[in-house]
Amino acid sequence: MSKVKVENPFHPARFKPKRKGKKPPKLLAVVHQSGCTGCEVCIAGCPVDSIELVPGPDPRNPTFQQMVEIDLSRCIGCQNCSQDCPWETITMYNHNDAFVAWGNETLTSQLYVDTDELQKVEPELFEAKEDSGEESESA
Ligand code: SF4
Ligand code: SF4
Repeated sequence: MSKVKVENPFHPARFKPKRKGKKPPKLLAVVHQSGCTGCEVCIAGCPVDSIELVPGPDPRNPTFQQMVEIDLSRCIGCQNCSQDCPWETITMYNHNDAFVAWGNETLTSQLYVDTDELQKVEPELFEAKEDSGEESESA
């Protein structure tokens, strides 16, 4: 069964301002999470606040072994984070390559979730999408 990731509509980052401009950036930043220490240096330098903390695996101590992830839908490709990271664990990729790299380098994500998981908790979202898809196809 193929798993498709979609933006998590319940993450607080979804309330932040969306990226402006019609063209997507040429470059996007991807965190190699296996090398991320959660030091948060990159967060401080992001001009569009598109880097989010991922809590560590122990829910009783979420700040232990935390990592970051980058919201690809808001990253503007400025390269600040890739230059600032003391562990050199953020790489800039060409826009389309970034999504493949994200899939390879992301261990834990809260910004993007599997469609089947989302469908379980919020089936109405998918019903609405299917309805609008049918409408646009028939238009
Ligand atoms: S490249 Fe720039 S906009 Fe994108 S996550 Fe890094 S600091 Fe933020
Ligand atoms: S600066 Fe590097 S190591 Fe620190 S939180 Fe960001 S990606 Fe992780």
